[in-house]
Amino acid sequence: MAILLKCPACREKFKYDVTDGWPDACPICHTNISNKRDDDDVVVPNILSFKTKNNDKVARDIMNGSETRAELAAGMAGVPVAEMSGLKITDLNDRNDALFATKDIVNPVTQQMDMIKARGGQVGFGATQAAEFAANAHTNVEPYAGARARNRIQNALRPIGQAPLPREIADNPNYRSRV
Ligand SMILES: [Zn+2]
Repeated sequence: MAILLKCPACREKFKYDVTDGWPDACPICHTNISNKRDDDDVVVPNILSFKTKNNDKVARDIMNGSETRAELAAGMAGVPVAEMSGLKITDLNDRNDALFATKDIVNPVTQQMDMIKARGGQVGFGATQAAEFAANAHTNVEPYAGARARNRIQNALRPIGQAPLPREIADNPNYRSRV
C-alpha cells in the first residue's frame, strides 16, 4: 500500500509503498532516513506534541481546580484549608498508559467484585439490563416511583426559581414546570 511520507531531512512529501517496510533513503534528497538502529541505541521518544501537551494540561487543570475547590470549601465552612485537603487531587495519571487518569480504587467492595468476576460471575449491570430496569420503572407496581418521590419533596418545598434544564427534560411531555 502506497502512503504519503514526509522526509524529515528535506521536508518533501513522497508516495511510498510500505508493504515491505519503511524506505531507507529519501527518493528526493537521498538522505538516509531509515529507522534501522542498533539494539542498544538509547531511544528518547518525543512526547511533547501539541496533542500530548493538551492531555497533560487537562490533567493539570483538574488538579489545580481541585486545589481551588478545597480552598473555596474551606472558606465556606470556615475551617483551615488543611481540613478540606481531601478534595485535593494530587495523583492523576497524565500519561497515556492507563485507561483512566484516576488511580484504580482498591477497597473491600472492589476486592469482592474482583472475586466474583474471577469466578465468572457478574457485577453491576450492563446497558441491556439498564434499559430493562428503566422500562420497568415506567410500568411496574409503582411507575415513576423516583420521579414521584422527587415531586412530593419538591411540592413540600417552596420553589425558589427554575434552573435551566436540558431540552430532553423540558420537552418531555411528563415534565411539569415548577414555576
Ligand atoms: Zn528528503
